[in-house]
Amino acid sequence: MSEPSLPRRRFLAAALGGLALGRPGRSAHGAANPRKYRYIDIHTHVGRYYWGKDLTLAGLLKLMDRHGIERACVLPLVSPEATVYPQTSDDALAAFRAHPDRIIPFCCVDPRTNSGNPNRAGRLDLRSMIEVLTRFRDLGAKGFGEHQVGLPFDHPLMMTVYEACARVGLPILFHLDDIRGIDTPGLPRLEHALKSFPELPMIGHAAGFWASISGDARPEDFRRYLSAPRRVTPGGALERLMDAYPNLYGDLSEPGGYWAIHRDETFGRAFLIRRADRLLFGTDFLMADQEIPQFELLDSLNLPNEVQAKIYRGNALRLLKLDGDRGTGPTGPHPPSPSR
Ligand SMILES: [Zn+2]
Repeated sequence: MSEPSLPRRRFLAAALGGLALGRPGRSAHGAANPRKYRYIDIHTHVGRYYWGKDLTLAGLLKLMDRHGIERACVLPLVSPEATVYPQTSDDALAAFRAHPDRIIPFCCVDPRTNSGNPNRAGRLDLRSMIEVLTRFRDLGAKGFGEHQVGLPFDHPLMMTVYEACARVGLPILFHLDDIRGIDTPGLPRLEHALKSFPELPMIGHAAGFWASISGDARPEDFRRYLSAPRRVTPGGALERLMDAYPNLYGDLSEPGGYWAIHRDETFGRAFLIRRADRLLFGTDFLMADQEIPQFELLDSLNLPNEVQAKIYRGNALRLLKLDGDRGTGPTGPHPPSPSR
């Protein structure tokens, strides 16, 4: 992933840290409403993504403490189009066993372990995929992903994965762009999957997914991140699909999630409020000392408490069927994370 150029102001604020809770003050969106809740991060990684920049489990916990993140989902990356250095489901489960109060493990299988040929079954047909996912679920996995595979989004092998996730009861977090989870403007392939598995929560992210917040999304928007504000045009595919399919969710992590809101903050703020039941806070932490502009962006938007409660933690608790909260109800307020 290449980093877009971001407003220096936000980088500096993130670099300074100390954002355990939002700061009071004023923003373009009125008197700021500081953050009231500790985050549950729907999207992080542990291990190597960039050479020399490994994010260890201790390093992830440090980032979580610095930013008021109570718990984080650790997502394996196993497909060759997703990473040069695979991060396994066993790694995510080991992180969970070491810190069960902080880490929420996901599991992942590349669909091409299945031959797709009924006369020459590969390692995993649907039946054995269900067995494998059930085993991971029984060891503690709460979701499937990061599903980032170089196949069309509704390729038959991909549909087998969705069916297995639906049967085992694991929400799926997917990457969608022009080369992984491949789709095109209007998101017809994603719609096919949403329609085929209405009981499967599907949580989307990345360039193509978030470009589709706008009605004017073009093929080239699926392959790169924005680097300058751009107005959102009404009629985005995400709006249409969220209206039609209650199983579609959005992961606000990484540059795609950031730019979806920042490109047109008036629209972005209204979108967060209107879709508060469908959006999940995430960082996509994958290296030590990574800076995440989402913290300051969200703090600047003066979001109502009930919207914060859902996006920052409540939706994750509900979707991943987590064991409630730490004593104050599903979305109750929390003190800042104690610094370690
Ligand atoms: Zn990721």
